[in-house]
Amino acid sequence: MSNESLPIHDVVIFGSGPAGHTAALYCSRANMAPLVFEGKQPGGQLTITTDVDNYPGFPEGIMGPELMDRMRAQCERFGTRFSDEELEEVDLSSWPYRYKAGREEGLARTMIVATGASAKYLGLPNELRLQGHGVSACATCDGFFYRERVVAVIGGGDSAAEESTFLTKFASKVYLLVRRDQLRASKIMQKRVFDNKKVEVLWNTELKDVHGDEVVTGIRVVDNTTGAERDIDLDGLFLAIGHKPNSDPFRGLLDADSVGYLKTAPDSTATKVPGVFAAGDVQDKVYRQAVTAAGSGCMAALEAERWLEAKLEELAEHGG
Ligand code: NDP
Repeated sequence: MSNESLPIHDVVIFGSGPAGHTAALYCSRANMAPLVFEGKQPGGQLTITTDVDNYPGFPEGIMGPELMDRMRAQCERFGTRFSDEELEEVDLSSWPYRYKAGREEGLARTMIVATGASAKYLGLPNELRLQGHGVSACATCDGFFYRERVVAVIGGGDSAAEESTFLTKFASKVYLLVRRDQLRASKIMQKRVFDNKKVEVLWNTELKDVHGDEVVTGIRVVDNTTGAERDIDLDGLFLAIGHKPNSDPFRGLLDADSVGYLKTAPDSTATKVPGVFAAGDVQDKVYRQAVTAAGSGCMAALEAERWLEAKLEELAEHGG
């Protein structure tokens, strides 16, 4: 399709977590009529959590999905359009930039990349095959199914600590598999793990395989100090080994670090491509909080608005 026949937008936002929504809110209030591609997980990672107690303004806490519904309603109130088409391709070689997402193809004067991050898996064949059949990366989503069952959590950070204690609400026993001889989790989270009699920490232990035809029936683990292997019978396996940024569609187009986190200018959300900004977990490997993602979404919107204003002035001066 030729560029002339494509719709053109002041701003297109990829991603619909706190960063994407906040960017959309600010852009819509600046009359930029944003188009938001929601991505594979509309509402982002908060839609797979339960209570959010650290988002300011909700003294009693709020459920993650409800918080995201509220953000969406607020954006819609000011005219944001949401699309569930999946992003396939962006072309940043000439301005305005081009995107293709399913049936939606068009041009964008500015873009905000807020595609977030996704849970990591180890990549063992049986672990991947049994995803959704006993293997999960979200205890808060799936913990409910393991009432009086035995489960294992893999990881040593705050997520693993939080998920293992959360799972004891349902499970009769939770093994926590830690690959080192210490946890990375904060002291307060560690204390909760150690104080919980249902949690058994297996130090220096790594997952070797997952057993089960239709559903998980057990795991094979290895003690990495001795090489000794053993099987553990259980019903559920939860991965909590961190996240990876969802930057694949922008690979090679925008600068990223070795893991894939998009690089932005200091104190800014600007990427190396003028008019393209990155906000939230896809560019933040340090804080990764809903409120910091929302804050950087706001920065991206303000920067996109200012950049576009300057660009249009420049074009007018040059008769463009
Ligand atoms: P982290 O990156 O902090 O921790 C990942 C953990 O997984 C580490 O212990 C790591 O081990 C382990 N790990 C990584 N790869 C493997 C592997 N291949 N095999 C076995 N273990 C592996 O991720 P989290 O998701 O825990 O936390 C992310 C961020 O979110 C942190 O900043 C955290 O503080 C924050 N957070 C805060 C919470 C809260 O405050 N309520 C709750 C959850 C997260 P190793 O230690 O050896 O590197």
